[in-house]
Amino acid sequence: MNTGKMFDTHMHTRFSTDSRMTIEEAVRQGKKLNLGIIVTEHMDLDYPEPQAFIFDIDEYFRTYERFRSETVRLGIELGMRCDLIEENRELLVGRPFDYVIGSIHLIDRIDIYQEHFYHGRTKREVYGQYFESMLACVKDYDFIDSLGHIDYIARYARFADTEVRYEEFPDYIDAVLRALAEQEKAIEINTRRLDDDAAAEALCAIYRRFHELGGRLVTIGSDAHRPQDIGKHFDRAMAIARSCRLQPVAFKARQPEYIAL
Ligand SMILES: [Zn+2]
Ligand SMILES: [Zn+2]
Repeated sequence: MNTGKMFDTHMHTRFSTDSRMTIEEAVRQGKKLNLGIIVTEHMDLDYPEPQAFIFDIDEYFRTYERFRSETVRLGIELGMRCDLIEENRELLVGRPFDYVIGSIHLIDRIDIYQEHFYHGRTKREVYGQYFESMLACVKDYDFIDSLGHIDYIARYARFADTEVRYEEFPDYIDAVLRALAEQEKAIEINTRRLDDDAAAEALCAIYRRFHELGGRLVTIGSDAHRPQDIGKHFDRAMAIARSCRLQPVAFKARQPEYIAL
């Protein structure tokens, strides 16, 4: 299935506890930029702070159903944890999601965003644990469509150089990419860090490797929490997809639709 239209496949509106963007604003911005949008609200079960990063899925569909169209789709971003696989799987049963992102946000019940996660530890230790957790989840979460922001940790890590570099962690990264490719899953090009040339270059090496290991599909998402961030750096993401010979897709009813490159 082909869709001519470009999609921003990752954004958060008010069902995400850290976003104040309304769906009306997201829809309006998508129209303005001629982009389809997929709303992907945060669901991190058993988050250390009660009521944070969870939402009522039935209310989500009830409230947003009227906005749904060919170009406005409804998804979810699941925080993956090895101890919550069945609980996460259960969330999707019988629910009409278009798209499911699987992301690593917490390790050992600590948000990677928190400074104390890094305290007294080396980059090798911390990133090793990050990739081990990601690998275990990618293997077990056979019900996701795409792996979200492989470089998430680089946003928040407290090291002089936080970049996720292929050459520093080739075995871990290969294992993650291979597991995705074998299951014919997509990987996300999260555009949040693409304003940084060095980051874009480091990420490109990872996506190129994904293709070498048999991966074919990418989703492109801004992770916007504000209307003005929707569609940010999409030219750059498309250039990466092209140069790494990966096919951008937007999921609809859990099936990938090809976006013209
Ligand atoms: Zn995320
Ligand atoms: Zn997100």
